[in-house]
Amino acid sequence: MNRCSCRSRYESSQYYKHFPYKPSTYLLHKLRAYEARHKRCGPGTPLYAKAVERLRSDGDRNTAITNDDNDCRYILWLPFDGLGNRMLSILSGFLYALLTDRVLLLALPHDSSDLFCEPFPDATWLITPEFPLSHLFNLGPHAHPDHAYTNLLKTKSIVLANNDTSTTPPPAYAYLSIGYDRGVMDAPFFCGGDHQRLLRNVTWLLLHSDLYFVPSMFPAFRAELRRMFPAAAMESISHLLTRYLFHPTNPVWDMVTGFYHSHLAHADKIIGMQIRMFFFATIPVDDMYNQILACSRQEHILPEITTTGTGTDIAGGNLTVNNKNGSTAIFVASLYADYYERLRSRYSDNGGGGGRVEVFQRTHEERQDTGSLKHNQKALAEIYLLSFSDELVTSGMSTFGYVSGSLAGVRPAILLPAHGHKVPATPCVRAVSMEPCNLTPPFVECGPGSSKDDDDGDDVKRHVKVCEDFDGGVKLF
Ligand code: GDP
Repeated sequence: MNRCSCRSRYESSQYYKHFPYKPSTYLLHKLRAYEARHKRCGPGTPLYAKAVERLRSDGDRNTAITNDDNDCRYILWLPFDGLGNRMLSILSGFLYALLTDRVLLLALPHDSSDLFCEPFPDATWLITPEFPLSHLFNLGPHAHPDHAYTNLLKTKSIVLANNDTSTTPPPAYAYLSIGYDRGVMDAPFFCGGDHQRLLRNVTWLLLHSDLYFVPSMFPAFRAELRRMFPAAAMESISHLLTRYLFHPTNPVWDMVTGFYHSHLAHADKIIGMQIRMFFFATIPVDDMYNQILACSRQEHILPEITTTGTGTDIAGGNLTVNNKNGSTAIFVASLYADYYERLRSRYSDNGGGGGRVEVFQRTHEERQDTGSLKHNQKALAEIYLLSFSDELVTSGMSTFGYVSGSLAGVRPAILLPAHGHKVPATPCVRAVSMEPCNLTPPFVECGPGSSKDDDDGDDVKRHVKVCEDFDGGVKLF
């Protein structure tokens, strides 16, 4: 790790506008312990080679293995969905590794190969090419292979302690499907208690998730989470961990800093607007634009324009921008140019009455192309540009927007999705926290012995609530 090989790691703090939370001493201690573990157990070490060798010899045969002196245990993240989804599931996997003393590894496909620097000192988080089980790396969203945790439970390849009279040794690996679709999820994972004790004995966990599942882990791990993120600061989880874990590689950082210095650096205030149009919530561009303006008025975000006197505009008055904050740069991130163009023309002839307002967009890719590295680099650059905003407007249910808010350390104004293609009556709501929403929390009945059932409900109510943008989701606050 040196300054030149990953400049963003050393430079990004100069660009962020907000630093709302400091890591606790205990979190710092956990991170240092994690780094030491990763260095000892990660790819390139004898312990990793041994763990992979045992997986190769035992894993494919669906046989159980016994523990030996190798105490290295892993959670291997598998790619799934777009960049925002991926960042959030990597982040969740990392927190799980911190909580359970595992090592987080990634099976990164080529389309993501030059996005992030190595986060841990003197170590890599990328598995080596000869890693076995690659047939499990690209299963579809509904995949539920034999080694999925609930299948292992069903076939009694793994047995809960309280049902177990034989001491069944654990399988070499378990596949965790915990995202996308509540129906096929390995939901007992979230029960904690006996389930987590059982999983502790499995050396390799393969994580197949596209979401931020931390809110659903809260009940099972709440005591440790409160130690790591004290003072009721549950919303600092994603904020502190995204800033710790993700550092764009130099090519992406050049895109970010080049654009920033050319267009945004001089402004007194930067407003980030992330506009996402989902297939299930499409509305005409003009309706979406009006929703953005209505949200902005409600939350006092964009400089307002008033008409005064007789003069040059179509109604015979002068257009004046009421911008008490000096100059403003509005950075628009969207797959399309429409909103940028409308905002730019709104502020292009503003009579110079208030401070200067300029509108910028870096790209409009027109469509998601997650299989392309270049496309993902541009997307990541825009997530970082958004994160340098003083104020943020993001699109509801978008993981791209969630990551920007967490990185920025800002509670965004969230544009509500147009469910059923109907423009929402309330254009947006202010986020209660900068935490992402878990859009598919599990439906799970936890049996006795699970810490989910042992919950004191008040504690969960105090920190977990229904998301502002989707009433089927939950988030921390
Ligand atoms: P989500 O679908 O909004 O939850 O976010 P994801 O990041 O998981 O997937 C959307 C993908 O579409 C991104 O990763 C990009 O590839 C692309 N995309 C969506 N919005 C933008 C944008 O504003 N800018 C760029 N460059 N790409 C975008």
